[in-house]
Amino acid sequence: MNCHCSLCSVELNFFGSIILDSLINFDNSYSRLPSDFYSPSSADLPPKPKIVIYNHDLSEQLNLPKMNEVEICNYFSGAKKPKQSTPLAMAYAGHQFGHYSPLLGDGRALLLGEVISKKNIRFDISLKGSGPTKYSRRGDGKTALGPALREYIVSEAMYHLGVPTTRALAVTTTGETIYREQPLPGAVITRVSESFIRVGTFEYFARQKDNHNLNVLLNYKINRHYPELKKSSNPAFDFFKTVLNLQAKLTAHWMSLGFIHGVMNTDNSSTAGLTIDYGPCAFMDYYKHDQVYSYIDQRGRYNYSNQVPITLWNLTRLAECLLKTYDHPEQQIKNYEEALSQFENIFNQFWAQKMSIKLGLIQENEANTELAKAFLQYLEMNSLDFTNSFRGLTQYLKNENNQTPEHPFFINWIKQVKTQNLPMNIIINKMNQVNPAYIPRNHLIEQLIQEANNNNYKSFYEFNKILSSPYETQQVHNKYRLPPEPDQIVTATFCGT
Ligand code: AMP
Ligand code: MG
Repeated sequence: MNCHCSLCSVELNFFGSIILDSLINFDNSYSRLPSDFYSPSSADLPPKPKIVIYNHDLSEQLNLPKMNEVEICNYFSGAKKPKQSTPLAMAYAGHQFGHYSPLLGDGRALLLGEVISKKNIRFDISLKGSGPTKYSRRGDGKTALGPALREYIVSEAMYHLGVPTTRALAVTTTGETIYREQPLPGAVITRVSESFIRVGTFEYFARQKDNHNLNVLLNYKINRHYPELKKSSNPAFDFFKTVLNLQAKLTAHWMSLGFIHGVMNTDNSSTAGLTIDYGPCAFMDYYKHDQVYSYIDQRGRYNYSNQVPITLWNLTRLAECLLKTYDHPEQQIKNYEEALSQFENIFNQFWAQKMSIKLGLIQENEANTELAKAFLQYLEMNSLDFTNSFRGLTQYLKNENNQTPEHPFFINWIKQVKTQNLPMNIIINKMNQVNPAYIPRNHLIEQLIQEANNNNYKSFYEFNKILSSPYETQQVHNKYRLPPEPDQIVTATFCGT
């Protein structure tokens, strides 16, 4: 029996008492696309779901209704399907470490539906770890608690650091034990994104030569995300240039924070310029230009510096797909080649902007880039911590008597800062807004996962809170700022599949 009021749906249970269901206003445009785009799916029933964390700020931004703990736990563990949800697994393909897989798709993710935020932006809400789908292949469709907490903490930190990213709405434990070489608690993370459409989604249709659906996808993408391009005389090309710009900017942002994504396969490459699919990602402690953490990246394809040419490689795959949307692709090849040839310049401009401000060089100057490169070389030669070294630079500007290390970089840098003729407090303020005091350091994440596996979430909550203001020095234990001791260094990270 259901109530017909517009705010809630009231259901009478077997004993006649009322169960109130808050109504999430889903509007699921993806489920209205042709059936080739997805496979309808449902979550496994978790045996004993519990909420670990719910992101109330994000919930408010998304204009979700106020929900009680039982509802939150039910909806975001898969125990209960929200009323207007049409759960589905999205289909996509992708190049994994350079090799093409024609069918990947959401093997452990489930799109519950889309909601419109307070700022009138459409967001996907998706569970990860809620059980197998048509695309699971040999996988179990599950996620262990560790990777769920890792994605929660790192993606939320990225958001507060100002980097375009998917976000995390909730983590629940399922009460199930899952096996990843050892028994681990099972969990579900709820992710929120302006889009989960990947370069691999375009590849899925383009490589099947399904030009009809390829065009449907392109139109959907443009209507939803870039409606201003609808008037363009060459929308596919303008869309491509937009994605190229967003991705160049995103990678420059990652580089400026010492972030390594770890698995930049085309199925993990966002067509909305977001950081998506957090797996074995990591922030560097000691600076090393070819740093790799991911256990599966044995050859360093996705090492820190390679993220730039790999972004271009992924964009080239997208260009190949978009060319197939034309009746006469041969007339367009030159345009796309020209756009791709601009990538390096565009990336370098974004990179120079970010790195200059980190050094307190507010005014554009050709010398800024050389100084940034010289500082990175200095960090690498001396095995210095990336984050703390940038944050620490202001000490030499605050106090003239503070002796700089004996290295030509410092003489040139101070000279360049001073030639700007700007008040020092303004320069220092700007530097502190881009050089974080706190990053989600690997060794701290590993420690909090160990504790959480033993049912202790104190460090997880504490670190999460600290990372919500990463640019402010806080009265918290120094361990949150310090790089790892030699015995704490994490040398390998895992995607947790
Ligand atoms: P990822 O490394 O998370 O980007 O995943 C690559 C592909 O493997 C995607 O199609 C995932 O859905 C799938 N996958 C990863 N882990 C699992 C799992 N435990 N069960 C089923 N599919 C998985
Ligand atoms: Mg992925």
